Amino acid sequence: VPEIPIAALNHFDFCPYRCYLMFVVCEFEDNAYTLEGTRLHQRSDTPGQSQRGEITQFRSIWLSSETYGLYGRADVIEMKNDQIYPVEHKRGKKGDWRNDQLQLCAQALCLEEMLKIRIPTAYLYYAESHQREEVSLDSALRDYTIQTIENVRALLVDSRPPAAIYGKRCKGCSLYNSCLPREMMRAREYVLKEEDQ
Ligand code: SF4
Repeated sequence: VPEIPIAALNHFDFCPYRCYLMFVVCEFEDNAYTLEGTRLHQRSDTPGQSQRGEITQFRSIWLSSETYGLYGRADVIEMKNDQIYPVEHKRGKKGDWRNDQLQLCAQALCLEEMLKIRIPTAYLYYAESHQREEVSLDSALRDYTIQTIENVRALLVDSRPPAAIYGKRCKGCSLYNSCLPREMMRAREYVLKEEDQ
């Protein structure tokens, strides 16, 4: 049974075909968005500890869960009084998808298992808007995360490509040229039309 990188959940939720390209075919291309994301992560990817008032921050912490077969790295784990929670740093501003919440919840599931605690809330930090979003780790988000872990595991085991469906998200996708979803969609439509004649 394959272990699942936490980042794969985020990519699967954004687009299953992108997840397939990255984690089955092992293909990755940078674009302006991913390079900006890498630059942003440079500080949080450097292991270390710092103090901000009553908050202690631990950067670049490895996480894993035997229960869910997950592993990955949290940008930042914060400790405030008796609370411990992950903070995931993101480029840009809050998007239309739940992929960031999903990734954060998966980090919290690992941390809960490792520390034997319950984490009710965690945070997303969006660099462009400098906003921190509090994310409630409620049962709906937990269920959605666990279901996505199973979906990604099935994708890794099955190794068959899911459909590449052209949509709004393709505009910023660094793998567009490997996928060509709009061109493939047009080609499929053309073939179907020819078959009908
Ligand atoms: S271009 Fe669109 S369909 Fe293709 S991998 Fe990216 S998001 Fe998915």
